[in-house]
Amino acid sequence: MNIHEYQAKQLLKSYGAPVADGVVVLPGDNPETKAKELPGPLYVVKAQIHAGGRGKGKFKEAAAGEKGGVRLAKTPGEAAAFAKEMLGNTLVTKQTGAAGKQVNRIYIEDGADIESELYLSALVDRATGRVAFIASTEGGMNIEEVAEETPEKIVTVDVDPATGFAPHHGRSIAKGLGLSGPQAKECAKLCATLYKAFVAKDMSMLEINPLIVMTNGSLRVLDAKVGFDSNALFRHPDIMELRDETEEDPFELKAAEFDLSYVKLDGNIGCMVNGAGLAMSTMDIIKHYGAEPANFLDVGGGATKEKVTEAFKIITSDPAVKGILVNIFGGIMRCDVIAEGIIAAVKEVGLEVPLVVRLEGTKVEEGKKILSESGLAITPADDLEDAAEKVVKAVQG
Ligand code: GDP
Ligand code: MG
Repeated sequence: MNIHEYQAKQLLKSYGAPVADGVVVLPGDNPETKAKELPGPLYVVKAQIHAGGRGKGKFKEAAAGEKGGVRLAKTPGEAAAFAKEMLGNTLVTKQTGAAGKQVNRIYIEDGADIESELYLSALVDRATGRVAFIASTEGGMNIEEVAEETPEKIVTVDVDPATGFAPHHGRSIAKGLGLSGPQAKECAKLCATLYKAFVAKDMSMLEINPLIVMTNGSLRVLDAKVGFDSNALFRHPDIMELRDETEEDPFELKAAEFDLSYVKLDGNIGCMVNGAGLAMSTMDIIKHYGAEPANFLDVGGGATKEKVTEAFKIITSDPAVKGILVNIFGGIMRCDVIAEGIIAAVKEVGLEVPLVVRLEGTKVEEGKKILSESGLAITPADDLEDAAEKVVKAVQG
């Protein structure tokens, strides 16, 4: 689960990280009154969406201009004008995809005079099983290019959970950021603070891009992006309260409601599979035959007919789906339950795209019989390869 920049900053501030003062503007608020709470003379108006690249982003609406989702203003009045231009409009950035994201909240922050922009992040490195810090002197808006073109400018420092964060970690990170003297000390202290927050709140990633050195010499967290491990959210009700469902994929929200493991993807072949491993191989084989999956979906082991019905409805209601592949290897999951679920879903919402079904395992004959007697236009498949080939052919013509 992700949260907004201003929420991440409030959280990091509560641990002692250096963060500017700021005010949140919601629809209906008076942005000028809000901005006047800040000292000036520089105000930064920032669109709050769960995606980065806002500074270089562009609004779809001409009225909001091409000035991007992070703007500097010199007076509360100017800040208010920017906030009004952004609110309710759709910001498109490198991370939002072409559809963009509607801006429903604005953060106005006390502006900083920047000496340099650095990059600092922390994430769970699955290869080492440790929290790794990633640091670079090349912070700001082009970190992806730095990683591609000059990877030697990126330094990684990982922390052994058995011993925790130690002063030498802080020194290595500060060195990687090119800092020395009091700034290196300040940086080491900040990293210890971030590590504490990261572990305490079960974060999965924390990105500060940029961390800045101000003209007065101090460091400041200028941007903050935080993601949490969903499996640990049950022990953080305070974090759960920060959830903004308007930022989440509606299909994924629906799936979560029915406890289905579903991830929306960019392709056009909808998949309904049981078992995460089989779901992965199903996506691989679709790619092998030259198409792209529209989703990952594992209906799980002991799914009921109702759950299967909901899963199938989620797939068919995605307008990107141009063909569906059902791939079930019945073990605990029974093929007849799958068949009944599909039929119940089609009765409710219809079926306008080709459907290829591969069933194998427990109650397979019963399942096939239910499907063939249903009168639905289903293409049966013998095995996984056959199924993938058939659905790709049906979609690509
Ligand atoms: P992002 O584009 O979504 O990553 O948004 P950021 O919060 O990182 O802001 C983008 C850029 O705006 C930063 O890299 C800075 O160059 C600039 N910026 C943000 N806040 C300030 C500020 O307080 N003062 C100045 N001078 N520039 C800022
Ligand atoms: Mg940024």
